[in-house]
This record gives sequence, structure tokens and C-alpha cells, in this order.
Amino acid sequence: MRFYTAMIRNKENIIISADGGRKGYRASDLGLEHKDMNELIINADGSLTDNLAERIDKADQNKALLIADLKLCAPIPRPRQDVICLGINYDEHAVEAGRFSDEAFGGERPFTIYFSKRVSLAGAPGDVLPSYKGLVDSLDYESELGVVLGRDVKGISENDALKAVFGYTVINDISARNLQTRHKQWYLGKSLDGFTPMGPCIVTPDEIGDVHDLNIRSYVNGEIRQNSNTRYMIQTVEGAIAELSAGMTLQAGTIIATGTPAGVGMGMKPPCFLKTGDEVVCEIEKIGQLRTKIGE
Ligand code: MG
Repeated sequence: MRFYTAMIRNKENIIISADGGRKGYRASDLGLEHKDMNELIINADGSLTDNLAERIDKADQNKALLIADLKLCAPIPRPRQDVICLGINYDEHAVEAGRFSDEAFGGERPFTIYFSKRVSLAGAPGDVLPSYKGLVDSLDYESELGVVLGRDVKGISENDALKAVFGYTVINDISARNLQTRHKQWYLGKSLDGFTPMGPCIVTPDEIGDVHDLNIRSYVNGEIRQNSNTRYMIQTVEGAIAELSAGMTLQAGTIIATGTPAGVGMGMKPPCFLKTGDEVVCEIEKIGQLRTKIGE
């Protein structure tokens, strides 16, 4: 099952697709009256997907919408809390980041790095991101697997952690390298408005299969930059959920960005950052593509 948020007549609508993202139905046409994706996730129980398949089977075919015709928003446009991110979670990215700034990214890391991003409004597929001229001189992209939790968890084991996942999405962890490294803590350099494009949809775990066997890529102006697989994550999805929840309640709707593989702009020789007119596409197998343009 795929969950989208789309703008229809100036109103955000939840759209649900059972055919891989070709056609979908408004949640309200399937008898679900949630005001937004957060509310749907909070109220979803484990049988939601089964129930939805039945509702879609019985739905009025005339109400089906072509996903390609919709103006999509981020699937969760306004996250309930800051997005939790893993830093330096692929080996080859650790090498390229250390080459760019040993002070900021070098050294031993026996434990996972966690940080967060403020996201007042997550970027929609196709959005134009300002280049922040005068403030940012090193705008960069990071293609990442996003994990959305379906229920509150605390003290969950690695064995059970994936059962708490509502679904997966694509996140571009846009970063201002000058702000990220200058302020030591990464928060500011990761949190400017528009720095968290997300989408095109949330895909439920049954359609994903093994979450640690997904090709993950990015392209800038059509040129492939990142080309890896989620099997190369250092900390796993279940490991991160278990570790984070050991002492902290992770609420339903929590979004975790699981880190980016090698191939970001700061890792190029010489570094090559995003500029006005560029287009970045982040892509994860079985989820889809997330396109962002760089504006003035
Ligand atoms: Mg990142």
C-alpha cells in the first residue's frame, strides 16, 4: 500500500494506492476521515492494510485518481516532531566526509551519531528550494531512506522493532555544509526552511520486503552521484529504533532518516555544491523518485 498527500482544490488530501502508485483513492472515499497523515498513522492499527485492500476492492472505480496527475505534497507535510537523523551511517560516506572536514567528520565512531532536523514544512516532490545566497555557500544533497513509525514505542527489542514501522519513504537530507561545520552541532545547517524534501509516498513494509536490500541513488542534472544499497548501512533500521527507544518514547509518526551513502557534493574532488538551476533526484528502489530544483 502507498500513502500520498496531494493538494486537491487547495486542500490536502490523503490518497491511498494499492496498485504500486498508478491509481489511488482519496482516504475519505474509502471511509477514512482523518484530517492528515499524522492522524491516520496514530489511529492505524495493524490491520489497516488488510482493511484498505478490501475497501479499495469495493470502491467506486469512478473515484479513482491517476497519481501522475496529482500535485503531491510531502506524505507527512508537517511532522509531529523534529526528524531524527543518523549521521555517517555508510562507510564510504565516512571516508568522503572526513576528507572534506576531518575536524567535523573524522575520528573514531564506535557508536551511532544521532542528530535532528527542524521541519516546519517538509518539501514536496518537485519543489523549488531557495539557494540561500549570502547565507549558504555549500548547499548539498543526501539521499536517504526515511522510516515512519506506526505506533508509540519504548524499550522495543531489535527483534520486534520493524513491527513498529508504518512505512518507508525517501528523504533528501539537504545540508548547508558551511553552517553544519561552523556551528559544531549540525542542527542549524540541516534545518533551514525547505531542507527536508520527502516523498513521493510512504510505502508499507509488505511492499518493501527486505529493507536492507534496496538500491539507493541520487542524480544531479541527470548525472548519477550516489549509487549504493541499504545493505551497506552501519547501524540497521531495527538497531536504530531499539537503541533510540531504550530510554526515549518514540511517538507514532516519528520519522527517522537513516543516513546517506557516498557520492554527496562535499565528497567530490574538488567538492561540487548545488547551485541555482540544478535539479536533484533522490531515488530508492520500491519507493520512487523525489525531485527538487534549486531556485534563486
Ligand atoms: Mg544525512
